[in-house]
Amino acid sequence: MSNQNGPHPAQIAKHVGTVLASLGVLLFLSTFISAALNFGNFDNFHERGRSMALRAVFGFIFMIAGGAVHGVASSKERPKGGKFNDGTWNPGSDSELAGPINIRCPSCRALNDEAAKFCDQCGKNL
Ligand SMILES: [Zn+2]
Repeated sequence: MSNQNGPHPAQIAKHVGTVLASLGVLLFLSTFISAALNFGNFDNFHERGRSMALRAVFGFIFMIAGGAVHGVASSKERPKGGKFNDGTWNPGSDSELAGPINIRCPSCRALNDEAAKFCDQCGKNL
């Protein structure tokens, strides 16, 4: 029994990707802000320049990684399947992410597996 309560794993990954990318942008921008704030100040110029370059590089990596995580998560949200020729749904390779799909019995409202031909509760045709 697997209940699909709470946010979808792909959605969590998407949020993590967004946060990561935002952090990267902030880190990246902070190097320019501190460069602007220290404009004309050449004390410890080399040390500051190195820490700024480090922050810029890490910010850039965060942005790329966040964007990649976000992109992968977004692509997983979209169903990759399509209709088979006989009209049944082909879930494609992402079927494990979609979780169980239940359908409700039209006569007794009981939840049944999508693949079930007859209702578990009342035995009616689904
Ligand atoms: Zn039923």
